[in-house]
Amino acid sequence: MQLLQNKVKEEGIVLSNQVLKVDSFLNHQMDPVLMREVGKEFTQRFKEHNVTRVLTIESSGIAPGIMTALELNVPLIFARKQKSLTLREDIYVEKVYSFTKQESNEITVSKKFINPGDKVLIVDDFLANGEAAFGLARIVEQAGAEVVGIGIVIEKAFQPGGRLLSEAGYRVESLVRIASLEDGKVTFA
Ligand code: 5GP
Repeated sequence: MQLLQNKVKEEGIVLSNQVLKVDSFLNHQMDPVLMREVGKEFTQRFKEHNVTRVLTIESSGIAPGIMTALELNVPLIFARKQKSLTLREDIYVEKVYSFTKQESNEITVSKKFINPGDKVLIVDDFLANGEAAFGLARIVEQAGAEVVGIGIVIEKAFQPGGRLLSEAGYRVESLVRIASLEDGKVTFA
């Protein structure tokens, strides 16, 4: 997606060989016009799947997620991150190792919001090792629903998440793919 690639080129800040900061349009300040285009693009790519729910994870997945859900005219659910939980009957729980925080979180979704037979599109802001996406997919599968695809705003293609998700049989669509963050600059795939 050229518009998004231009934005990454102009405003992305390379924090290390592994981490890109995009806090001017996605991770802190959010660009609603760009997010609307992201929503339209994911809708275009996944519209033949009769998606019934969009699922993301708080907090940076919510903006691209809500715009996609708006365009598809379905609800958005965001998984919540929690440190650790006492066992509860009414929620799905999965452990996810956070790439940016270097710690494990439990992510939870209320059983009320995903039903057997739902066709779920997973959306997230970044793809690195695939931990967040796999955790979300396990929640969908716990619910007896189907993951119809995974829409990623920015994939760091030099990390293994994209390959691992594809090998596991998921269709991954990334709007921008980054080949490298070496030497302080963004090289696109
Ligand atoms: P994964 O779970 O695929 O290892 O990492 C993806 C998650 O970590 C995303 O939800 C995102 O919030 C965060 N993340 C991973 N890499 C980056 C990065 O380079 N920049 C930012 N801002 N977030 C990242």
